[in-house]
Amino acid sequence: MWLVLLGPPGAGKGTQAQRLTTELCIPHISTGEMLREVKEEPTELGRQVTDFLAKGELVPDDLIIQLLGERLAKEDCCGGALLDGFPRTTGQAIALEQLLADIGASLDGVLSIEVPQDEVVQRMLKRAKVEGRDDDTPEVIRNRMSVYQRSTQPLIDFYRQRNQLYPIDGLGSPNEVFERIQDAIESIRKDRADAGK
Ligand code: AMP
Repeated sequence: MWLVLLGPPGAGKGTQAQRLTTELCIPHISTGEMLREVKEEPTELGRQVTDFLAKGELVPDDLIIQLLGERLAKEDCCGGALLDGFPRTTGQAIALEQLLADIGASLDGVLSIEVPQDEVVQRMLKRAKVEGRDDDTPEVIRNRMSVYQRSTQPLIDFYRQRNQLYPIDGLGSPNEVFERIQDAIESIRKDRADAGK
């Protein structure tokens, strides 16, 4: 099953993605995690990525599309994957369709975790204390939110128009949110069966 997990920073995507991929036996591909690894490399690319992450800006589409393409070519993706943090722009969404078509696959559904902005900012400030992520400072958080609204929010319409969007209420305990995600997976399976896939 090929899934995308959408949602603002701080919506709890990482936690939910881990549970869901364990249940579905597919890899969890987090482009944020991939970039945090690249950042540690003593290369020019590592240095460039460090700058984008520190400011809360998106890395250029070409760069992330190339990295994702390499990741999708790995054997563990033969039965699908859950993409967390990709796509983040409409350009990336269009590139994803092509990357999947190249490996004979297509997207089954987009899970969109919806949480009001005030709540996600509070959650991220809390996470900053616990995890010590250097892109969780108040200033960078503000920028990441505005980047999300400007670049990633339009994807919700993009996928809604394609009938691929499954909205999830992200308020409540992680268990409650996970139950809603499981319901959405059932709907995706049903829609897929109805479409004869
Ligand atoms: P995340 O862990 O998903 O919140 O991502 C952390 C940071 O990595 C983001 O603020 C961006 O700087 C960068 N990043 C992650 N995924 C992407 C993507 N698909 N396109 C561009 N930049 C990304």
